[in-house]
Amino acid sequence: MKDFKTQSKKILDMMINSIYTHKEIFLRELLSNCSDAIDKLYYKGSKEGLSGLTRNDFYIRIEADKQKRTLTISDNGIGMTEAELEENLGTIAHSGTLDFKNENKDAKENEDVNVIGQFGVGFYSAFMVASKVEVVSKAFGSEKAYKWTSSGVEGYDIEETQKDERGTTVTLYLKPDGDDEKYDNFLEEYEIRSLVKKYSDYIRYPIKMAVTKYKEQSEEDRKEGKERESYKEDETLNSMIPLWKKNKSEITKDDYNKFYKDTFYDYEDPLKVIHTSAEGAVTYKALLFIPSNAPYNYYSKDFEKGLKLYTDGVLITDKCADLLPDCFSFVRGLVDSELTLNVSRETIQHNRQLKLIESNLEKKIKNELLDMQKNDREGYDKFFKAFGLQLKYGLYSGWGMNKDLLQDLIMFRSVKQDKYVTLKEYVQGMPEGQKFVYYGTGKSETAVRSLPQSEKILDLGYDILCFTDDVDEFAVKMLGKYKEKEFKNVLGEDLGIDDGSEQLNKEDEDMLSALKDALGDRVSKVKVSGVLKSHPVCLSSEGEVSLEMEKVLSNMPNGQEGVKATKVLEINGDHAIYRKLKKVYGENKDEIASYAEVLYGAARLIAGLPVEQPTELTDKIFKLLAE
Ligand code: ADP
Repeated sequence: MKDFKTQSKKILDMMINSIYTHKEIFLRELLSNCSDAIDKLYYKGSKEGLSGLTRNDFYIRIEADKQKRTLTISDNGIGMTEAELEENLGTIAHSGTLDFKNENKDAKENEDVNVIGQFGVGFYSAFMVASKVEVVSKAFGSEKAYKWTSSGVEGYDIEETQKDERGTTVTLYLKPDGDDEKYDNFLEEYEIRSLVKKYSDYIRYPIKMAVTKYKEQSEEDRKEGKERESYKEDETLNSMIPLWKKNKSEITKDDYNKFYKDTFYDYEDPLKVIHTSAEGAVTYKALLFIPSNAPYNYYSKDFEKGLKLYTDGVLITDKCADLLPDCFSFVRGLVDSELTLNVSRETIQHNRQLKLIESNLEKKIKNELLDMQKNDREGYDKFFKAFGLQLKYGLYSGWGMNKDLLQDLIMFRSVKQDKYVTLKEYVQGMPEGQKFVYYGTGKSETAVRSLPQSEKILDLGYDILCFTDDVDEFAVKMLGKYKEKEFKNVLGEDLGIDDGSEQLNKEDEDMLSALKDALGDRVSKVKVSGVLKSHPVCLSSEGEVSLEMEKVLSNMPNGQEGVKATKVLEINGDHAIYRKLKKVYGENKDEIASYAEVLYGAARLIAGLPVEQPTELTDKIFKLLAE
């Protein structure tokens, strides 16, 4: 027996047991080797003008033998001579394929050749599932065939053998089943089929397997409960040509939709397909989809963002998170790129390349969304209903860094127009004299529309944006301004409009300060409102923390209870209640306190803030009613 030629057998042991996290990838590695071997022969054939080597003659075959517990993977590629067996499989981390790449630089430019291997370790992944591996190979143009056998670290044997066809046959003698690992699974048709689909669907030669089929049964036989007769039939398990590598003009909308639904298990067509490629600093092809609906766990911790990453048509990871910015985490799809991978091909060595791709995709997604907003508004509205929240979170969590990326993508419902509008549309629709972008906060659009303060703003002909999600106001804070226009909360104390407030007389002022005294530091002041029209009272806030922010922050699980808005109680000077207040104050100054409580409580309710002692408040109302 010959020893493996590496520094130490330990390396092989390490390769086998610690490089890969998933045992199942052995099949991907062996199939990639088959594809490489065929490519090499095809390349040689086309370069040297050899006849009889057309693409259609090449194939890869998988056979499972449950009795013998063997899995065989064969190809009719270039094969290996005795010396090559020795060199390629006897030397760990020697890659014949890398040599080939280096010796045949022009092969890289040849569209039809697409060799995958480069590290010279993939083959040994077979030992993760097999206790013994046999490789029988007959090199192209050679009469002799050789068999390489090894049971792992101890070494290997090579002997002459018989083989009719050129190419290589790798037979894995599967390890016995253990408690944790059921190697038998790898002999099941459905398992093989799904592994091929998952990792090797785009290998460019047919991967064939004889699969079990059942004969049609006569009605009589069926009634008698006879078993259906089975037979074996060859089937090609892989689809071979990746959709994204085809010419765009050859792909129909249906092709894209079907691919999306099959690959990402969605039952609805995507709202938008983005098929793009780049060459230069990084070379890649990407096929991205904007789904029609958010997956059920989208806004939960369980949701994992990411794109499938392929290099040369072979799947590397199912969800590469680095390729997608968080604010676009809803995008599904894949990137196929020539990246420098690490040995196990499970991670990527140069994050820089990924970063570049990510930033390219980010721009592309933004532009495609803007395009949709312009040309397919119905689609964009649907998109926004499903994922708009994520865009707003993106604005907020980026602390303004994502401003340029996201400010034109977000929308809010408009009170005046009863539809979604973008900030741009809002600003463009502002009548002359309107200085601010007005918004109102509340649980629903109806709540915002019926805010006491909304009336006046709408009367002026100004529109109001409905901020109904917790994040809305925080997100807009990160923007600061939009096109030089500041945002104004209609629940704020200063609405930036000429409220026509008149000079108050001494009596009025005394009454207002009596109301303020009754409420103590729950309000910073009580004033005659400039914004109220038909409603008697409202609450507004001064300073940075708005009423809505107080609500949101105190509802957080880690309860920032201390954060309170500085509140102002506003009273409508033209309202009958105001006249009543003056009357009460004139007759009996002490009674004004319970009016203050009732008005303040009512204003809290209108603003959607909780009332701390509802019974106390209602008792006061009942008492006033009974008078
Ligand atoms: P890699 O594919 O990264 O080069 P492997 O360990 O998978 O590394 O394979 C080592 C070498 O063995 C390959 O580079 C190739 O030269 C040779 N080889 C493996 N499988 C085959 C095969 N099916 N046909 C021909 N050569 C093969």
